[in-house]
Amino acid sequence: MTEFSSITYEVDEAVCVITMDRPEVANAQNTELLDEIDAAFDLADADDDVRVVILAGNGKHWSAGHDLKALVGDVEPDEWRLMRETPEGKWHHEKVMYFDRCLRIRDFRKPTIAAVQGKCIAAGVMLACMCDLIVASEDASFQNPVLRMTGAGVEILVEPWEMPARKAKEFLLTAESFSAEQAETLGMVNLVVPRADLASAARELADKIALVPPATAQVVKRSINKTLDLQGQRDAWDYHFQAHHWMHNTATALGALEARKSKGSMAEVFAEHRDP
Ligand code: ZN
Repeated sequence: MTEFSSITYEVDEAVCVITMDRPEVANAQNTELLDEIDAAFDLADADDDVRVVILAGNGKHWSAGHDLKALVGDVEPDEWRLMRETPEGKWHHEKVMYFDRCLRIRDFRKPTIAAVQGKCIAAGVMLACMCDLIVASEDASFQNPVLRMTGAGVEILVEPWEMPARKAKEFLLTAESFSAEQAETLGMVNLVVPRADLASAARELADKIALVPPATAQVVKRSINKTLDLQGQRDAWDYHFQAHHWMHNTATALGALEARKSKGSMAEVFAEHRDP
């Protein structure tokens, strides 16, 4: 059995639960966490007993997004961070680790369910939206506040596909947090349940889906994703990834990045951009 340190991996009958396990940093996504999620999907893919995958998060919050401390904070840089010194390195890092890794989940042949609680922020929203269904607890909230910090959204612009365009603009431009209930009304979330029932509600959905023969589930999932592709989802996401990277390399973004590096901690950066 593969040993993991940033996730846990459990299989019970036809259902596999991959749980992000960095609760001390609200499951912020660093290289190790993303590598382990990817490896866990490999295991779930190879295991014929697994028919449905649940992606969960341990602790109070589902995910705070990419681990900015690992990216720009005062910690030993990993090879990906070193690569980000050039525009082409930054592009390669985000293409491999963020864009392709996320689409791999979106295109995963078995159905997936995100079980979201607490805060789900920026790349956390992107990751949750890669799953086929989303179950949220009543305390869950969704927010993508990166525009204030110069980011042109995150690497995959899920918002116009998860809510009407006007709401997507509100969500991104105002950095407002949408409650689980609002997200359900918009169609971004399938089901909202009390926090204590989140795991069992996700499991109940997974058990229902597991009654569908795997080949059938796979074909129908692919057809629905193909429908989105034909509506332009994949092209729009390719366009956005390039636009996102153009923004990363503007004077506006590079200036803000330098200012950020001179701060003592990410807490100071966030304090600056908090709601007025
Ligand atoms: Zn980026």
